[in-house]
Amino acid sequence: MQHINFNNIGKICYGPGSFSQLEEIIEPRRVDNKGYMVFVVDDYFEGKELATQIPALENDRVYFIDASHDEPKTSQIDELRDELLADQGLPSGIIGIGGGSIMDIAKALALMVTNEGSSVLYQGLNLIKKPGIYHCGVPTISGTGAECSMTAVLSGPEKKLGLKCEWTVFNQVVLDPTLTASVPKDQWFYTGMDTFIHCIESATGIKYNTFSKAYGDQSIALCNEVFLGENAGQNPENDEKLMLASLFGGLSLTYSEVGVCHALSYGLSFVFGTRHGYANCLAFNHLKDVYGEAVDQFHGMLERFAVKLPQNLSADWTDEEITAMAQIAIRLEHMWNHAFGPDWKNKVSMEYIESLYRRM
Ligand code: NAD
Ligand code: ZN
Repeated sequence: MQHINFNNIGKICYGPGSFSQLEEIIEPRRVDNKGYMVFVVDDYFEGKELATQIPALENDRVYFIDASHDEPKTSQIDELRDELLADQGLPSGIIGIGGGSIMDIAKALALMVTNEGSSVLYQGLNLIKKPGIYHCGVPTISGTGAECSMTAVLSGPEKKLGLKCEWTVFNQVVLDPTLTASVPKDQWFYTGMDTFIHCIESATGIKYNTFSKAYGDQSIALCNEVFLGENAGQNPENDEKLMLASLFGGLSLTYSEVGVCHALSYGLSFVFGTRHGYANCLAFNHLKDVYGEAVDQFHGMLERFAVKLPQNLSADWTDEEITAMAQIAIRLEHMWNHAFGPDWKNKVSMEYIESLYRRM
């Protein structure tokens, strides 16, 4: 058996207010390459107080990026990379301040500034040829686990798939839970559920093991406090808990795998542009036969926060759209393999996957 030998985050600075340490954290790296830093920041923060606290120097570049419509695209990364290299050469580092979308842009950009050609060429496992540059992640929503994962998920012309390799992992993260206080309730819920679902899927499959369980159990316990506990909801204490739940959920996954829900979710995102956390919720809502009690818990959380998911969505989908989603989903063989075992092809057909979409 081949054991995973994974690259963890280089350094973690954690705690309410830790964002104020970003300046001194990145300072030693400013001598690298052409001596300038690139900040990619969720444009929600443009004009807000946080924007005034970004430790950018004169030669640095600050990009405020809209993450409210589309998830990151290969073309977006290629364009940003070409612009940076043409204007100022190789940066010292990339700092991503935002949710999963922005963190993935930072991770992908850090790799693509040293790897030639389009990022489309590198969508997959270990296709990246050269190490990227220093990169630092500062999450402003909790749940995706993008702060610790070895993938930067991008939608390309043919697939939604990550640039996945050990160099993708952040050299540094700054986990400041106060940055998540302003997340709108529904978004907080959907992205938070990403963590919960990561842990349930991680635990329900052939790759599950003691390492995944140790992190996953802790993450689920924290999610239960945040979403079902006495003091459930968005508050400073829970912001801390959810930020750690996200990290632990991500670490649980590193040694395991996601499953049916994420495979379906990727199809929804690719065909309709449905956002990741929300797409997961749409799918998980109808997977009681696969994930059992966890789906009941999920329904309890929906109820607790009066989050209403649409019903009968599939009534408006064409057969072609459903087939297109199933085609995206079935290609995620590692997820089906984890969920149903090596003979998954005997259980999972295009018809089966299409039937799962028709439930939604
Ligand atoms: P997001 O980054 O897509 O942002 C969602 C919305 O929240 C945006 O409108 C953004 O402007 C807003 N927002 C962010 N922080 C805010 C704040 N503090 N206050 C107010 N608004 C704020 O959300 P997400 O759910 O964190 O990320 C989803 C993305 O992450 C998808 O692109 C998905 O593919 C990716 N993802 C990556 C991994 C990975 O391991 N790399 C894992 C899961 C998901
Ligand atoms: Zn996810």
